[in-house]
Amino acid sequence: MKKTITLFTCCLVLLSGVSAGAATKSPTPVNKYRYAKKKASYYTKSTSKYYRTIWNDSRKAWNKSKVFKWSTTKNKKSRSYATTVSRTTGVWTNATGMAYNGKGFDSKGNQTGAGMYLNRAILKKYQYNKKQRTNVAIHEMGHALGLSHNNAGSVSVMNPANRRYALRNCDIKGAKKVYSTPAATRATLASAAKPTLTVDHIHDYSNNIYGVEKIKQDAGTIVEGTITKSVAHHTAPQNYYTTQTIKVSEHFKGAKNQTLTFTQGGTTEMAVADSEVLHPGEDVVVMLAKNPNGQYYVINDGQGMFIDTHTSNGNELFEHVSDHGIYTEGMLH
Ligand SMILES: [Zn+2]
Repeated sequence: MKKTITLFTCCLVLLSGVSAGAATKSPTPVNKYRYAKKKASYYTKSTSKYYRTIWNDSRKAWNKSKVFKWSTTKNKKSRSYATTVSRTTGVWTNATGMAYNGKGFDSKGNQTGAGMYLNRAILKKYQYNKKQRTNVAIHEMGHALGLSHNNAGSVSVMNPANRRYALRNCDIKGAKKVYSTPAATRATLASAAKPTLTVDHIHDYSNNIYGVEKIKQDAGTIVEGTITKSVAHHTAPQNYYTTQTIKVSEHFKGAKNQTLTFTQGGTTEMAVADSEVLHPGEDVVVMLAKNPNGQYYVINDGQGMFIDTHTSNGNELFEHVSDHGIYTEGMLH
């Protein structure tokens, strides 16, 4: 049985390997949000001239594409805004930027506001130059107007760990798709009208066995156990995260503690895209690292979490939270 599962996973790897190359030409995937029209105005909360220039350059890049028109407003109460934070812990651990989709909705389920964030502390720590910070800003504006991530290997401003790429044709095609959503789909949008945070990390671990192998190498600690306590922190939206306590049953790597406390992004009130908040009683494998305050965090939210689903032919099977792939316990350490 174990052999069969491994084989199955290898096939998935091959498939996603093929799609990664082609994805740059096909439109960047969309998320479930859009503004009513292909335009929106936002308030720039950043006070530094440096970051105001970055947001302005990013706005101009989108406007030049003609697919969406961003404008600025002096209205401080605008539900759409661009801002910066300087944080290294909680949901911001290793995060370069973030988008807060669904700040508000109209009666048809169209988004009426979205927050766009850059994290100065991480951009500085990893020495992003001004052009690269602008690329991250264009990326956050892309999430805000309705784009999701492109594949890990894509040449796209929506590459999940984008630093190098400015706006590309695939992104423009994706945005066109967002704003040609048929009216009938609006009802679906309305039913999904809940805010989400999309957190952009310094590294991305693509969702297949290669990504899992890489995250295994980078994790200082890998343990299996049962979640016993889950405490949400709601400083919206700057620090939406949950502190989890795990009673450890197996130590695969690193810390040998019987219980461990770690943070993950998001809470039950506001999810992080491609992740979900762990619940007490759940059996999980988690891949952890330490933040500058010495606290453990699960690496890249959903990418570092695996939930025990069931046992088949003596193998415990775990579902990868970010992409729902199934792994045996042996593949996770
Ligand atoms: Zn992103």
